[in-house]
Amino acid sequence: MTDARLAWQRGRIVAREPLTARILRIELQPDTWHAARAGQHLDLRLTADDGYQAQRSYSLLSPPEQTGRYELAIERLDDGEVSPWFHEVAQPGDELELRGPLGGHFVWSRPAAPPTLLVGGGSGLVPLLAMVRHRHYGAEAAGAPMSLVAAARQASDVLLRDELLGYEAQGRGFALWQALSRADRAPRPQDRAGRLDAALLAAALQPLGAPAGVLAYLCGRHAFVEAVAALLLVFGVPAGRIRTERFGG
Ligand SMILES: Cc1cc2nc3c(=O)[nH]c(=O)nc-3n(C[C@H](O)[C@H](O)[C@H](O)COP(=O)(O)OP(=O)(O)OC[C@H]3O[C@@H](n4cnc5c(N)ncnc54)[C@H](O)[C@@H]3O)c2cc1C
Repeated sequence: MTDARLAWQRGRIVAREPLTARILRIELQPDTWHAARAGQHLDLRLTADDGYQAQRSYSLLSPPEQTGRYELAIERLDDGEVSPWFHEVAQPGDELELRGPLGGHFVWSRPAAPPTLLVGGGSGLVPLLAMVRHRHYGAEAAGAPMSLVAAARQASDVLLRDELLGYEAQGRGFALWQALSRADRAPRPQDRAGRLDAALLAAALQPLGAPAGVLAYLCGRHAFVEAVAALLLVFGVPAGRIRTERFGG
């Protein structure tokens, strides 16, 4: 039996909204909605008038509980082919092709999840935010602790920052740690003005208990993911418990 999620179908852009200076939220309504898991992505395919096609993957920002529409967050790469189209051209009502949700390894589910460390840079935060939203969906949500380390230039570049601070303020075991490479000073004591370093990662791991029991999800550019994974291994997180997703670069 073929999986219907692997087939291309039509989707319509129903909303667009800047989330940060470089990242745009896009809401897509597919002809047929398929259930998603937190961390999965869609493949999108654009076709020009002359028949030329370009295909790219975008992670779901929406949690699995949100049905009917998929939310994406697309970072503008100035020399890119597809992402500038979303920022400069795409409007509500435009149609494209999509397939998915796809991906079976970089996914996080709330039931029985162990203590979880999420580390993302730039648009690499997108699938991690779906996991955070999934954890906090509904009144009873919580479970094992979760730390999110967000690497960005400034606090204003951290996707959904206010929403994340709201989850943290609920006191249900979620903490946000920001590494802000272009900030003059850290917004809060637990944050850092500067690049993500070993000390910040160690601090974010601390509330999660023994590193051997932590499940880690790393997402961003290749070099970023490699550097963070190497540090986590030194701290004692087992290689088999470090899941990675790379967004080019
Ligand atoms: C599973 C998966 C999920 C993804 N999810 C998201 C998402 O949620 N949001 C998002 O914005 N992107 C995401 N991406 C990246 C996305 O698929 C595209 O690669 C990205 O939008 C660039 O496409 P483009 O056509 O604009 O640039 P291209 O024309 O493909 O590339 C332009 C230039 O930018 C470089 N480049 C490509 N990607 C990146 C990058 N991420 N960072 C820095 N340089 C890069 C290329 O090497 C090239 O030099 C995801 C990728 C994968 C594989």
